[in-house]
Amino acid sequence: MSDHALLSPSAAHRWLNCPLSARLEAELPEKTSSFAEEGTLAHSVCEVMAKKHFGKIKAASCTRTLKKLKADPLWDDEMLRSAETYVEHLAERAMGFASEPYVAFETSVDISAYVPEAFGRCDCIMFGGDTLVITDFKNGKGVKVCAAENPQLMLYALGAIKLYQPIFGGGILNVEIYIDQPRLGSYESWKCTVEELLAWGEEIKPKAQMAYAGFGEYHAGEWCRFCRAHGRCKAQARQQISAFDDFAPAIKSNLTGLLSPEEMSEALRKGETLVEWFSAVKEAALMRLLEGIPIPGFKIVEGRSSRAWSNQDKALEALEAQGIKRAVIYDSVPKTLAQIEKMLGKQKFDEMVGEFVTKPQGKPTLAPESDKRPVFSSAATDFAAVAENVKSET
Ligand code: SF4
Repeated sequence: MSDHALLSPSAAHRWLNCPLSARLEAELPEKTSSFAEEGTLAHSVCEVMAKKHFGKIKAASCTRTLKKLKADPLWDDEMLRSAETYVEHLAERAMGFASEPYVAFETSVDISAYVPEAFGRCDCIMFGGDTLVITDFKNGKGVKVCAAENPQLMLYALGAIKLYQPIFGGGILNVEIYIDQPRLGSYESWKCTVEELLAWGEEIKPKAQMAYAGFGEYHAGEWCRFCRAHGRCKAQARQQISAFDDFAPAIKSNLTGLLSPEEMSEALRKGETLVEWFSAVKEAALMRLLEGIPIPGFKIVEGRSSRAWSNQDKALEALEAQGIKRAVIYDSVPKTLAQIEKMLGKQKFDEMVGEFVTKPQGKPTLAPESDKRPVFSSAATDFAAVAENVKSET
């Protein structure tokens, strides 16, 4: 969920690592995207379905709300399936308690005791026995969000403890964090004791104060990707460029022959984030130009576009009227495997037609050693054959 405090929990990973990012981002316009709007809609679907399952609203009220949500132009049936998965997981977790837990949805929590002016909204809070469970739904399918030591959820948990401790007393001893990201098939959890969580809260207090006051330093890292200054930030540019500092002299001092395997490895590792950063710089430059701010040496031109019917129905009618046979104009093409799977949901798809799905071996692709996929093949003969194919295709 989005929140608008200067130090929002959803940006905690960023401002904890780069304290000056919060004040810098506050000066920049919020990036709205259709992904964010889809996320808000998907959250609303989850909320209403979960509330119905746990008896917080009546079935008729759920149906009425869903009908309204379905009228949204961003509606996709996949949202319903994601919400079903989310509710299934919540139900499973609730069953894990010895007795029926206390359950609350979309609860506002005050985190200002740790982070100035900060608040958050928890998708689902459960409490039973001595355990507080916080679940966050993520609609994104680009980047998997990890539950382990996730600062956003840890801040929510601190807020939830503050909210519920007066009610449940000192009975809350343990905290479980769940991140449910059904579109990536990811459902992760992480646990800690309340004592550990409170200690972490104390540890981040000075960092939060620094970020709020606008002290400290810029510190670029993987957290830059979601920063509003991504592609415009000088500290990030310096980090990207200086990544080659120790590599460049070695290359400059010896210009004979080819890159060694070690040098190639270094160029690949250092270049990976450089490419991503460069795309962000290009996007940021385009936005500046669109805003009327000149970028020396660059201009906006019209990109390529494909022709399209201005009125497809009328055009096809005209063709038929002029003697072109319908069979020539229309193709009957089945939906793709991915479209059908999206329509049915993965589980139903697997049950109904999973046996007919085959996956040909992919082309050899370069990946870092940390990649989870197994090595393509260690047999030299296999590589030789594939290399020949690649050569003949290029
Ligand atoms: S882009 Fe990175 S270094 Fe720059 S302000 Fe944002 S988080 Fe900090």
